[in-house]
Amino acid sequence: MLRRIKGGVHPHDEKKSTDDKKIAVLPLPKKLFVPVHQHIGQPSVPVVKAGDEVKKGQLIAESADGRGTPVHSPTSGKVTEIGNYPHPLYGKSPCVVIESDGLDQWQEGLLTDRSWEVLSAAEMIDIIFKNGIVGMGGAAFPTHIKLSPPKDKKIDTLIVNAAECEPYLTSDYRTMIEYADDVIKGTQIVMKILGVQKGFIGIENNKPKAISLMKEKCKGKKIEVVELETKYPQGAEKMMIKAILDKEVPSGKLPMDVGCAVQNVGSLKAVADAVEKNIPLIERVVTVTGRTVKNPVNVMAKVGTPFTELFDFCGGFRGANGKIIMGGPMMGMAQVSLDAVVVKATSGIVSIADNEVDLKEELACIRCGRCIDVCTMRLLPNVLSILSEKGQHQTAQTDYNLMDCVECGCCYYVCPSRRNIVHYIRQSKAKNAMLRNAIKTGSK
Ligand code: SF4
Ligand code: SF4
Repeated sequence: MLRRIKGGVHPHDEKKSTDDKKIAVLPLPKKLFVPVHQHIGQPSVPVVKAGDEVKKGQLIAESADGRGTPVHSPTSGKVTEIGNYPHPLYGKSPCVVIESDGLDQWQEGLLTDRSWEVLSAAEMIDIIFKNGIVGMGGAAFPTHIKLSPPKDKKIDTLIVNAAECEPYLTSDYRTMIEYADDVIKGTQIVMKILGVQKGFIGIENNKPKAISLMKEKCKGKKIEVVELETKYPQGAEKMMIKAILDKEVPSGKLPMDVGCAVQNVGSLKAVADAVEKNIPLIERVVTVTGRTVKNPVNVMAKVGTPFTELFDFCGGFRGANGKIIMGGPMMGMAQVSLDAVVVKATSGIVSIADNEVDLKEELACIRCGRCIDVCTMRLLPNVLSILSEKGQHQTAQTDYNLMDCVECGCCYYVCPSRRNIVHYIRQSKAKNAMLRNAIKTGSK
């Protein structure tokens, strides 16, 4: 039975230019700019300095407060500098700059060959932490924390988020096709860690090859493949849970509050690599695509690789770019510099042609209600945007569930007045966060 979500939109999926392309391996970059800031929270702290020789997989930065994740060297070479360089999410950010020696040599004694089946849950969580594994679907939340819910939150179901509902992106799809056994192994590892008996893999029905391959691989295991209608934002965690389990995560709550954990395909491959081979998260599959890219690809790219190297690998551009986005066009982050680098959360880099960029002027709300129809979180996006414009940010939070907005952009996508509703919502969230901080520190 095909599972559906209410609301949402059907943007053209634009996946044809890369979905049949095997994951290529990028030539080793001469220089890597490895950000020590890989996810929300404190950046990690470098444990190497300029002049140090490093090997592939060696620890180069460790968590500042125990809640973050360590960062490892993606290749062997020499640290030339710890300096601020363009980051795709945080403007400029501290990076460990590594000049490659061209040998790509692993740290001696690092790699292992062990079976997850003989390891305890606690041992595996520690391995996942030490190898710097994070959610690779976009948020980059540390996986070891997600796998350690508070004792009073009993998890009984694991959902593998294989929807990849953003247009253009095919990195998860290719990971399922080319690393199917690793994805299944990672799923079994996480099920063991959480002590759950049932797992689901949710895949949109525009990926029939992945659905049949995963069904084949799941035979005899306690993992069920669920076909989902192709509809954006099917891949949002709360949508996956609703579509697969028919459970609603209440306002302000998390998947664990309904007994559920959600993991991304790429993260599960990374979990399997870490637990059995002790391979840290130093590279990932990135879809480099868009209408102006000469030869769109899926590529295995090292963390710290400048975007320019990825576009060069694709043969450069044809025509003028309007925008470069890290992630998909619906929720991704527009880039100000092509010198930004691959981070653990880089699922794709998409170039949008200048004639695709919507430059129409924003108009007043005409109260057509289209944004309300498509909002999967059942919010009033029009009201939230107007409250933000008027500076009534707290009312948006207390009376209109501002914080439930998952920033999917469906409201903006359908708005005939081209109102940048997500921008207004982010602004209100930021203002409220600033107010909370000011109250906490006593400055308000
Ligand atoms: S879709 Fe745009 S114009 Fe229509 S109600 Fe929503 S904000 Fe107003
Ligand atoms: S209000 Fe938020 S959750 Fe609702 S459609 Fe807009 S961006 Fe998505």
